[in-house]
Amino acid sequence: MNETAWKQRYEELLAQNESEQEANRELEELLTRTIIRLTLAASGLDARLDLHLKGVRDAVRGGASKQLKERLNSLSDGLLHFSEDANAPDKDGSTEYLRLISLLHLSKKEAAEAGESLRLLVEDATLMDDQRFTRLANLLGRGVAPKEKKAGLFERLLGHSHAEHESGHKPNDILLNLLEQASWPGHWGAVIDGLKARLGATAQADAWAAVLQDLLDLSAKSYGEVQMEIREAEDFLEELTKRLQDLGVHLQSAHDGRDQIVEHGRNLSAKVSGHVGDLGTSVQQATDLHQLKAAVSDRLSLIKHSIDDYLDEEMTWHKQTEESERQLRDRLEQLEKESNDLRSRMVEAHHLALIDAVTELPNRLSYEERVEQEYARWKRFDEPLCMLVWDIDDFKSINDRFGHQAGDKALRVIAQGLRARLRVTDFIARYGGEEFVCLLCGTQGEEALRVAEEMRKSVEENGFHSSGKPVPVTISCGIASFETGDSIDSVFSRADKILYHAKKSGKNRCELAGNS
Ligand code: GH3
Ligand code: MG
Ligand code: MG
Repeated sequence: MNETAWKQRYEELLAQNESEQEANRELEELLTRTIIRLTLAASGLDARLDLHLKGVRDAVRGGASKQLKERLNSLSDGLLHFSEDANAPDKDGSTEYLRLISLLHLSKKEAAEAGESLRLLVEDATLMDDQRFTRLANLLGRGVAPKEKKAGLFERLLGHSHAEHESGHKPNDILLNLLEQASWPGHWGAVIDGLKARLGATAQADAWAAVLQDLLDLSAKSYGEVQMEIREAEDFLEELTKRLQDLGVHLQSAHDGRDQIVEHGRNLSAKVSGHVGDLGTSVQQATDLHQLKAAVSDRLSLIKHSIDDYLDEEMTWHKQTEESERQLRDRLEQLEKESNDLRSRMVEAHHLALIDAVTELPNRLSYEERVEQEYARWKRFDEPLCMLVWDIDDFKSINDRFGHQAGDKALRVIAQGLRARLRVTDFIARYGGEEFVCLLCGTQGEEALRVAEEMRKSVEENGFHSSGKPVPVTISCGIASFETGDSIDSVFSRADKILYHAKKSGKNRCELAGNS
């Protein structure tokens, strides 16, 4: 080979080397990403593994190194113990690897392939060729990436229908959404507001931990208060029972006393007639006026004594009865006052437990109570009844643009606006988050749609104000009438489905569900 040919050959080799290096770098990057995602996805399966997983993640972030190799070896050992400890394979022979793989978004076939490769990797990595390795990395990388899907509970909790913002998964956001969507007792309003404020945009990433602790403390405290109220009510009832027993004893003794007085009256009457009889005899036997006078005077003074004794006795009895009646009346008055206090405290507590603190509308619990009543009435009297399920459009963006406090204010304004357009016999509650539910009694179908349209328009026309400026906001509604054979759930689900349809068809709409 001449010099030119050697030079050309050298340059070709150099280029080939560079492109191989580039491919290796890409593969290394892919593997690094995959390992990080995989360790994140597998975290929480077993505490013993978590330590290794974190170690691997940290080592990987520092690039491939001797330390990474050691970490991977200990993870591999950990996985082996993990699978040895794990329960026996189930019917279709799946192992812990498959359990791990099942957490990923993969088809059945892909999951089986990934499971098998993972098993090889852990048990004897030398059996893995490059192609298998690359394919496993691709599968795992794809499987860990979030997929577009219909909003599930988690997304509902996060407050958006797709896993669109990485930041939405932060614990602070999750807890904030939980605080917003749950239905808290009315008297917790200010405290819950305080907790929400502590999770706002400027909060530290770990603010959730302290807020969660405070929320747990609040629940524990409230549980304690409820227990105390129950005890107070029990004590009160015990006291009431005792006083009623006192009253019974008193009435009995008053009754006995009266019997005694009647008995004494009878005795008196017998005594007096005895004295009068004696007087007659004395009169007949008297031989002179002086003797007669003495006999009459004796008998009269005996009669007087008997009557005086009787009157004294009656007076004493009256005094005693009056005194014990007065005591009893005082006690009863006090009891009445206490029972009124207790009653109004209970009424207030019940009222507070049924009112949503943010919107001042009846809350979810209240809805559950009312819908049962209306459903029973509808079944009995068969008068039209229909359900409206509302959801504010793009409410998340209102929070994002104007802050949560403005969001709360908007909720209140919209809620009160909706309520103002209902008849007194109708019912509206905050179902959760930015969702409301109405029960229209005596109305259904097109007529209900007309009512809903008016409500929707009023929200559209009025919006709310933030820093003095009007902010447009719209709302969508799904309507379903109660039909023969319906349960509460079936009507709710029809209304919710048609609401979803209204959202998909452009929002700011009310739609009526057809018959089931
Ligand atoms: P869509 O039109 O599809 O309904 O979109 P959306 O943004 O309204 O719906 P999504 O379910 O994605 O978000 C609802 C948001 O409502 C998320 C949550 O932050 C907000 N939210 C729920 N309850 C409250 C609350 O009490 N106060 C505030 N400020 N925001 C709340
Ligand atoms: Mg919603
Ligand atoms: Mg909404």
